[in-house]
Amino acid sequence: TVKTGLNRKYAVYDESIRKQLRYEKSIENRMLKSLENEEFLVYYQPKVDLKTGLATQAEALVRWRTDDGMIIPPDKFIPIFEKKYLISSLDQYVFKKVCAFIRRRLDAGLPVNTISVNVSRLQFYNSDFVKTYEDIKNTFRIPDHLLEIEITESIAFDNVTFLEKTVSELKSKGFLISIDDFGTGFSSLSLLKNIPIDVLKIDQSFFRESIHKEKDNIVIKGIIDLVNKLSIRTVAEGIETAEQVAFLKSVNCNMIQGYFFYRPLPEDKFKAILNKEYAVKETAPETDSKVL
Ligand code: C2E
Ligand code: MG
Ligand code: MG
Ligand code: MG
Repeated sequence: TVKTGLNRKYAVYDESIRKQLRYEKSIENRMLKSLENEEFLVYYQPKVDLKTGLATQAEALVRWRTDDGMIIPPDKFIPIFEKKYLISSLDQYVFKKVCAFIRRRLDAGLPVNTISVNVSRLQFYNSDFVKTYEDIKNTFRIPDHLLEIEITESIAFDNVTFLEKTVSELKSKGFLISIDDFGTGFSSLSLLKNIPIDVLKIDQSFFRESIHKEKDNIVIKGIIDLVNKLSIRTVAEGIETAEQVAFLKSVNCNMIQGYFFYRPLPEDKFKAILNKEYAVKETAPETDSKVL
């Protein structure tokens, strides 16, 4: 009887695994088709430079527009892409779209600033990763320092020597490098001295409501002081209030990315902002008007 019970359990278990696999397979097929059909959109979230008040840099963030017109955020599908090893295709798709965007601006004689893209930590371990990104950058003839690669902090922990090598290679190809979500993973300060990064993005969890607000602020100020001295620029992520902006300005944070200024925007809206920002710059170079 015990045996029968066990068999029954296994049978149920088997069935649920089969169901899960079928589900994942159907999602996988849908994703592949979506890549082919270009159902993925690139949104741009402007970053505001606190010195100039200008929002000419941005982060590219992927969205999935399904055939029924729904816009699905990345947290809902990136884990599945990663599980299925499709993330490289998606990351490269986004990267090409960004390169094409910059190229169109350059061809039209319009100014453009650095745009950052996210790279999945899985992709980072492809042996041809640097070459692939370099080739795409060259194909679109993108000048140096207009593309920034955002690396999630947690990559650093696996293999610092490897990370240092890859980052150095990317930099020699004219990419800027930022560490994303700093302070969430197993932050390592040795990262800051060993890896030649350009930008540190302080994770939004530092800026959420907390009973440790005072301590949070001391930590934020400390990080910014430290990395300023290492000539690494700082971006604060997830900024939603005027108080946060004032605080970040007082501690010399370089840039702000957050709903307080801009949400991630479709390309057309981002273009309108760029045109407005550059127009502002032409008439009043030192404008501070956007900063509180
Ligand atoms: P991330 O790289 O840390 O991007 C910042 C996320 O914070 C974005 O979420 C952005 O919309 C959100 N955010 C910005 N300002 C605020 C704010 O003031 N308040 C709040 N609550 N959120 C804010 P999003 O677009 O949903 O992306 C989530 C994550 O998905 C990204 O986090 C990134 O890790 C990943 N991701 C997005 N696009 C790509 C991609 O093309 N490739 C890969 N591998 N990952 C991507
Ligand atoms: Mg990012
Ligand atoms: Mg982040
Ligand atoms: Mg992230």
